Parts: sequence; structure tokens; C-alpha cells
Amino acid sequence: MYNPKSLKAEEFIDHGEIVETLEYAEQNKHNRELIEEILEKAKPKKTGRGVECAGLSHRDASVLLACDIPELNEKMYSLAKEIKEAFYGNRIVMFAPLYLSNYCVNKCVYCPYHYQNKQIPRKKLTQDEVRAEVTALQDMGHKRLAIECGEDPVNNPIEYVLECINTIYSIKHKNGAIRRVNVNIAATTVENYKKLKEAGIGTYILFQETYHKESYEKLHPAGPKHNYAYHTEAMDRAMEGGIDDVGLGVLFGLEMYKYEFAGLLMHAEHLEAVHGVGPHTISVPRIKKAADIDPSVFDNGIDDDIFAKIIACIRIAVPYTGMIISTRESEACRDRVLDLGISQISGASRTSVGGYAGYSPEERPHDTEQFDVSDQRTLDEVVRWLMGKGFIPSFCTACYREGRTGDRFMALCKVGQIQNCCHPNALMTLQEYLSDYASPETRKIGEELIAKEILKVPDEKRRQRAIDYLEQIKVGGKRDFRF
Ligand code: SAM
Repeated sequence: MYNPKSLKAEEFIDHGEIVETLEYAEQNKHNRELIEEILEKAKPKKTGRGVECAGLSHRDASVLLACDIPELNEKMYSLAKEIKEAFYGNRIVMFAPLYLSNYCVNKCVYCPYHYQNKQIPRKKLTQDEVRAEVTALQDMGHKRLAIECGEDPVNNPIEYVLECINTIYSIKHKNGAIRRVNVNIAATTVENYKKLKEAGIGTYILFQETYHKESYEKLHPAGPKHNYAYHTEAMDRAMEGGIDDVGLGVLFGLEMYKYEFAGLLMHAEHLEAVHGVGPHTISVPRIKKAADIDPSVFDNGIDDDIFAKIIACIRIAVPYTGMIISTRESEACRDRVLDLGISQISGASRTSVGGYAGYSPEERPHDTEQFDVSDQRTLDEVVRWLMGKGFIPSFCTACYREGRTGDRFMALCKVGQIQNCCHPNALMTLQEYLSDYASPETRKIGEELIAKEILKVPDEKRRQRAIDYLEQIKVGGKRDFRF
């Protein structure tokens, strides 16, 4: 029985409800009147408190996803862009993954870390190696990391992960610092989530891979990850452990995308219903080639058009949730979806364990790589590219450091204070990047952009303070201002 408030995976991700949703979407995919009505409902509206968006239920959003009327699809893309601009402006948050260990006891059939794969050497970073990796990441200009790890209670127990987080936060190399560590590790216990919270993590990220239970069990034939309920209920345990920024995602290509889309939104509705706060982010990874993995054996691959439509529909359905795209995707694909709702991208990523330190920007180790990286540009190139397109690359980590997590972040988002807060924060962290790490050409473009963009901070006092801080960063060598 479908029940978004239930704490049982099979009740809040009810298979019957998804099947009915897909039937309803199929029946209504040409229903212009209904689709227009849904789009109207989702539009940003001015209220006494600022601009607000109602979002959409999984049923309504599934109708949009199924719709194949070209002009209505165009309307969806424009609406997605409008919503993105209302809440995220032209800021794009930058991050990089840091792979700690590829030891794994699971047998996920799409992942090269599966324990039977003899094609990759197993590696786990020592604390000295973590230091070297983080120093290399700081030297590129990164301030925000997502740590990644296989699941192995002997080789990568929670104590190892906690020790790595500690090491990462402790490294202050030149003007560098990692100010937010997001964590993408296997589903774990409430006790361990509490420990992660105490270690000061940002978002806890866990991809569902697929919401289809039967497929899930086949795709994870052995190891602790085989347990669908334990995996699907992980975010509830994380929230119980005090982590209120959680990141959802599915691995597109494993199952039918329409099924995954409905499941993903039902999961978001469940978190909102039970914990009063939806997911902080949603990631949209697509399956990639990797050692011992051929993506063509999974017959649910989606093309770039459908991928873009999924992103636009997620943006419309959950307007306040950040959306992340990684370097799994090419420059061309990332280019297309930036406007449709993406708010965070990785740059200059290495998906191998120990892939940053000791390698030039052109060299990339492949031996322990998790999957092929499509966008292989340097961070300087990605930053310049974003600015050339009118986006502000942001290295901001202020919200969580100021305690604006969970519903407090959403509240800020909802009352439209983001332009007085996130905008100057983005510009100040961009100035830090430009002063410390950018090439002369990137710095020139960036400083021109900052001069123009700072004028868009609506509150005059705030704007003047931000201008003063920017000067202190640029000329006075000061760092880490934030609102
Ligand atoms: N081990 C953790 C877990 O089980 O959730 C998380 C870390 S894993 C390194 C991060 C994610 O990589 C997985 O959740 C999966 O979605 C993704 N992944 C695995 N194999 C992939 C592939 N061949 N192509 C693209 N992404 C992949």
C-alpha cells in the first residue's frame, strides 16, 4: 500500500503506485489541457514573502515527462530555465570527487569495484596520500569535495572514512582549504551517520541506482548492498542521525527512466512528508564504460534528448533541490543542461584512487579508475567556459558553515534571500579562485564579470559590504568572507 509517510521502503516507493503513475502519464501524454494546467501550477509565483514555487507531485511530473508534443516540451524547457534562474540565478557550484578506496565486498554488476573484478588493482589511500591528493586539489582551487569509497567493512570501515575527513579538513596549504566534504559511501547505520555528522560533513549522498526492487536485487546479487530495503531506507537513518542535507540519485541506464523518475520523486516526497525537508541535491549519473563493464549490456540507456528532458522535469518538480552533473557527461551535454536546472558541476575530476597528486593536467591514471571521464578539461578551462556562457562559477560553502542546512536552507531559498546571500558569496569565492589559482586570461574575464554581477545584489548595504570584502580579497590578501 502506497504511503509516503511510511518508513518501509516498499510502502513509500510502492511498485503499484509507480505502475499506476506510468499508466496515468501514458493516458494523458497528449492531454494538452492537463499539461498546460500542470505547467501553470508549477510556475514561480510572487507572494508576500518573495517568489515561491509549488513543485509537482510525481504523478503530474510524470505526465510532463511522457508528453511528446514539441511546443509543450519547449514550454517545459523555458519553465525549467525560469525556475532555475529564480532560485539559483546564474551561479554554478564547483566540486571535485576524491576517491579514497576501491576495495569493495559488493557485486554490483555495473560497477568495476565489484569484488570479482580482477582487472583493477585494489588501492586505499594512506593518510599521507590523502594529504597529497587534497594538496593537489587545493592547488587547483577546489574548496568542496565529494569523497567516494567502495563498501568494505574491513578495509574501509567508518573509522577510516572519519579519519580521512579529519585529515582533509586539517590541510591548509597556501591559501587553500577544503571547506565542505560531502560523502558518498554505502548505506550504513544511524550510529555511523551520527559520527559522520559529528565529523562535519556537508551532504550525505547515496544513489539509489534503481528504484525497481526486482531489478535492484538482480543488479546487486551479493554483498550488503543486495538488501533493497536497507539501501532505500538509508536516508531516513541518515536524517535520524542528524544529517539534514541528503543527496539522491539514480544511475540512469539500468532501468526504465520513467520508472526511475517517478521513484526518485516519490523518495523526495517521502523525505518531505516524514522529515519536513526534501533532498538537498539530486544527481543524474548515466552509466559509463569501465574496466570489466560494458554499458551496452544494460538496455535502458537514454539519449541526450531524454536526459535533458529528465533534468528539466526534475527542476520543475522539485524547484528548491540542487541538481548535480558530473564529468561522466561531455562538455556538449553539460553545456545543454546547465540552463535546464543544473546547479552544481564537478571539474577536473579524477575517478581513480590517487588520481590527482603527482600527475600533470594532461596525464591521467587509468588503472584504478571507476569509470571513463568524458569532460577532461582543467578546472581553469571549466571556470572560463562557464563565465563565457554568463554563469558564475561558485566555490561557496557558506550555507552549511553558517548552519543553513535542511529546512533552513530551503527557507532562505523560498523567501528569495538567495540573491542577497548566495550571489555575493559566489562572487567572493570566485574572486579567491581568480586571485590564487586562475590563469591571467581567466582572471581578466572573471574580474570583469564580478564587477558587473556585484551590482545585482539588491540590498544596498549588503552590496557595499561585499564590494569592500572583494577589495580585501583582491588587494589585501584576506580570505573566507561570507554572508
Ligand atoms: N560505494 C558507494 C555505494 O555503494 O553507494 C558509493 C560510491 S560509488 C564510487 C558512487 C556511484 O558510482 C555509485 O552509486 C554508482 O551509481 C556509480 N557508478 C558505479 N558504476 C558506474 C559506471 N560504470 N558508470 C557510471 N557510474 C557508476
